[in-house]
Amino acid sequence: MTKWVYSFGAGHNEGRSEMRNLLGGKGANLAEMAAIGLPVPPGFTITTELCTAFYENQGKYPDELAGQVREALGRIEKAVGRTFGDRHKPLLVSVRSGARVSMPGMMDTVLNLGLNDVSVEGLADAAKDPRFAWDSYRRFVQMYGSVVLDVDHHRFEEIIEHAKIDAGVVQDTDLSPKDWQRVVAGYKDLIEGETGKPFPQDPEEQLWGAIGAVFGSWMNPRAITYRKLHDIPAGWGTAVNVQAMVFGNMGNDCATGVCFTRDPSTGRNVYYGEYLVNAQGEDVVAGIRTPQPMSKAGAKPGEVSLEEAMPEVYEQLVQVRSTLEKHYRDMQDMEFTVQQRTLYMLQTRNGKRTAAASLKIAVDMAHEGLIDQKEAVLRVNPASLDQLLHPMLDPKAPRVLLAKGLPASPGAASGSVVFSADEAESRAGKGETVILVRVETSPEDIHGMNAAKGILTTRGGMTSHAAVVARGMGRPCVAGAGGITVDYNAQTLSAGGKVVRAGEIITLDGATGEVFVGPVAMIEPTMSGDFGTLMEWADGARRLKVRANAETPLDAQTARKFGAEGIGLCRTEHMFFAPERIHQVRQMIMASDEAGRRAALSRLLPFQREDFHQLFTIMAGLPVTIRLLDPPLHEFLPHADAELAEVGKALGADLEAMRRRVNELAEANPMLGHRGCRLGVTYPEIYEMQARAIFEGALLVAKETGKPPHPEIMIPLVGVKKELEITRAQVEKVAKEVFAEQGKTLEYTIGTMIELPRAALIADKIAEVADFFSFGTNDLTQTVFGLSRDDAGKFLPTYVDMGILPKDPFVSIDVEGVGEMIRIAAEKGRKTKPNLKLGICGEHGGDPASIAFCETVKLDYVSCSPYRVPVARLAAAQAALGVEGDRTA
Ligand code: PEP
Ligand code: MG
Repeated sequence: MTKWVYSFGAGHNEGRSEMRNLLGGKGANLAEMAAIGLPVPPGFTITTELCTAFYENQGKYPDELAGQVREALGRIEKAVGRTFGDRHKPLLVSVRSGARVSMPGMMDTVLNLGLNDVSVEGLADAAKDPRFAWDSYRRFVQMYGSVVLDVDHHRFEEIIEHAKIDAGVVQDTDLSPKDWQRVVAGYKDLIEGETGKPFPQDPEEQLWGAIGAVFGSWMNPRAITYRKLHDIPAGWGTAVNVQAMVFGNMGNDCATGVCFTRDPSTGRNVYYGEYLVNAQGEDVVAGIRTPQPMSKAGAKPGEVSLEEAMPEVYEQLVQVRSTLEKHYRDMQDMEFTVQQRTLYMLQTRNGKRTAAASLKIAVDMAHEGLIDQKEAVLRVNPASLDQLLHPMLDPKAPRVLLAKGLPASPGAASGSVVFSADEAESRAGKGETVILVRVETSPEDIHGMNAAKGILTTRGGMTSHAAVVARGMGRPCVAGAGGITVDYNAQTLSAGGKVVRAGEIITLDGATGEVFVGPVAMIEPTMSGDFGTLMEWADGARRLKVRANAETPLDAQTARKFGAEGIGLCRTEHMFFAPERIHQVRQMIMASDEAGRRAALSRLLPFQREDFHQLFTIMAGLPVTIRLLDPPLHEFLPHADAELAEVGKALGADLEAMRRRVNELAEANPMLGHRGCRLGVTYPEIYEMQARAIFEGALLVAKETGKPPHPEIMIPLVGVKKELEITRAQVEKVAKEVFAEQGKTLEYTIGTMIELPRAALIADKIAEVADFFSFGTNDLTQTVFGLSRDDAGKFLPTYVDMGILPKDPFVSIDVEGVGEMIRIAAEKGRKTKPNLKLGICGEHGGDPASIAFCETVKLDYVSCSPYRVPVARLAAAQAALGVEGDRTA
């Protein structure tokens, strides 16, 4: 018989934290906490496998489930000495979803389940407070009505509003037990009117309703969106956790809170968290009341810390913090409730954190001996480093402060104000940078938060939805900026007499919580401290070298600053576009004969020589791969008449002749046209000029520094061995000429890009004339798929949505097809030349999953854009360590 139900607490722990796939994160950790002796109210978990079985069987449960649930429920009843539906000692439970990974977007919690017209009296007696009992009952009916029975939650609010008017009071808290009784009656009428059935009084029926709602919520649109954004397979399913209720809202000796064992924004090793006296858990997260800090040290004037309000409980929580960190060896995010001064732990999990915190926590924990360096390297998600490498506000830049909120997620962002998630998504889709401004956010807003560059809310604390989700997504966020008033109808936000309209720019500083009117200048981040330490550990662990794709001096300097070990791709065509050169380039292209081309090329030579002189100087001794001209010539051509006439004038041709030449050069399929080495073969003078510039530039650096650079000259788009033979001979001829002219020589190598399927398939033959291969995976993906890299954006997202492709193959390597091509080429190339140097220089060179693939085929290096160099260094280390890191950030 399959076991679908696992008990925890009260000395009967059937689960452990390793069972998170089966029990979900929450269920597995509740069992673990109970097993290590922490105070956990007893309960049970229905497995994620049941969720899968439920969907496979068209929403039917297996026969044995009911018996297993009853037995587990009986165990709770015995442990707490209370019975479901009892008039005197009723058992109340909470019902929560809990997937393998935490998933905001799933079903809301149902609390106080088990209350009915009879047991509410029992609760009133137990709490010695009828008001509390009736308030709990109405909360339960309201939650159950909206979450399980699908009645619009606004309708419940209306009933409370009417009750307040009838009673002549303003606050909920001023309603009497009798008023709440009337509210409950109103709720029950509403539910019966909406659903055609009375509100269920049988606690077991209530329980099955809630269990069904949790499993049903696995397929709700919010959950589906969240899964899509986070690559969570639908087949994982969710578990259901049923647990004896404890109350944080029974009076002023009760409380509830959320805390982190370290600061999730900065990673500082301080106890960090918030609590509310006399409240239920959801009140803290919902951001309706302003929570108070945990520790005295973290309290501002006017705030009362838990340390002061309930010192014994605080002391116990300090113990719990250290027990959990030692046990899980990671930063924990916990929820607790204090009922009449007794502490209960309701949840623990690895806490979500910003990239900065992730880095600091990993490095600190390694220093503290909780984890080793290898584990620290595996703990940080390489892609999240991006957040640390991007600019922050320049402290010296002028700015106009609008308001201040909580520093909920660090980083800075400027963008146009939008007031809805849908609008954020649609404007971002058109390439605008937007800041999403909401009073507060909810799981329905996730798509807009993802599309926005930053998030601003006017309500809620550091653990509000906006704060938690923004940190997870790496978006800067200012939360709870209470000084700002948002008017959705007027599409404005205002503070201190200043009004900002939709579409106007604001700037957020998520590290300080400040909001500014207009844009603010930003500065580059620093690479030292914990970042430097982790990178050093990563460098010690990796095998792959990391180079950068760079052509300008600025790019090359940035690349070195980020730790690049050379240049893997210098796209020389980018050097042709500068204003003072493009004119010569155009004359070269438009010239009708070789003599005309050579004349223009000789004017370009000094520019190119100086380019290489600078690159070699900056890269001092590191390898520099220079790719000869690649794109089709027409990309450089002018189209406006004035520009055409200007080129014509220089060449002594009229406008009409120029137009004809442009038409001649136009291609139907330029990506498959006259580009790459095909240019070098048909117009040898182009590659000759570039080779001369490289050798002359390199000899100049050798003379200036005494250290001759080692140029690696790369021929693009080779598909036939002969193409490489011909272009190689051109370069070698120029080398001989230059060396003879200057009476000096230097070492150089000539290799090719492998970016066409034919080249990959005959790589053994090509290797006979190549000193190295560099995989051009942008073109290789384009040609292996027969998929235009410039047009695929129109339909690829649909392919990914429909699951035809797991990811965009231009972002992350298609291991199955393109990867196979690389594997074949690497094997064949090495068969001919065992020491053939192999690298990758397409966009994939900076993508962690693609880097993991490069490790499996044992490439020598990856090359990526300068900003991604640290990402690649860390990803290469993780690939070498051979395990996907525990990526909590
Ligand atoms: C490639 O094709 O992967 C490559 C690096 O070259 P480019 O993007 O310049 O075509
Ligand atoms: Mg290419």
